[in-house]
Amino acid sequence: MSRRYFVNQPIVGPTAVLEGAEAHHLLHVMRAKKGAALTLFDGGGAEFAAVVLEISRSRATCQIIERREISRELAGEIVLGAALPKGERQRWLIEKATELGVSRFTPLLAEKSVVKVQASTTARFDRWTLEAAKQCRRNRLMTILPPLSLEKFASQAPADAQKWLAHPGGETISPPPPPTAIWLAVGPEGGFTENEVAAATGQGWTTVSLGPRILRIETAAIAMAVLAGGAG
Ligand code: SAM
Repeated sequence: MSRRYFVNQPIVGPTAVLEGAEAHHLLHVMRAKKGAALTLFDGGGAEFAAVVLEISRSRATCQIIERREISRELAGEIVLGAALPKGERQRWLIEKATELGVSRFTPLLAEKSVVKVQASTTARFDRWTLEAAKQCRRNRLMTILPPLSLEKFASQAPADAQKWLAHPGGETISPPPPPTAIWLAVGPEGGFTENEVAAATGQGWTTVSLGPRILRIETAAIAMAVLAGGAG
């Protein structure tokens, strides 16, 4: 089981407090006692060796022993926009994108999207991102952004970023020169419409192929993240 715990505020002083689900896991699942050693992170990029100093029913105060600057991030930033698949496949997508080092994720509201995005949907995504970061030892969390149309998402990519729109029949991907920012877009089960493709390519995006087989949304998203991350 994970001995990494997330502190929901910047760790700056000699102590840090675990509360909520993280404290519950430490105290009531792992049954940690005073003096137990653990690793803390706050999403700021570092991790902290710590020991449990004081415990109550719902909080654990930890003493910080050492701050460690350990980056497990990719050399370049990957920004992923994808239409949401259904049900459990959403969790898989968020978990694998976190593991592969994606920096930001935007749910795309494509013309043929069938999955509705509500506030509770993205709250779940934050929880899944955190769980995946604990497991894969990332010290930064993938940021979940509000849903956008493909056109709006495409327009936010900086001019000097590589911009890949997954679309069957597009160009063959060649490995990008690292480090570079790469923006990726993946469509819904029905695919991107001609209008959407035109809107993105008109803003400097390149349509890219992932081979002759048609992949499900989450498979396409993960294949794109792997290709964009390179050896990362
Ligand atoms: N009938 C749809 C079409 O032809 O576009 C298939 C959609 S596919 C299930 C969902 C999304 O995954 C697509 O919109 C595309 O972004 C991506 N995708 C799946 N297979 C792909 C491939 N072989 N090449 C490029 N993109 C692919």
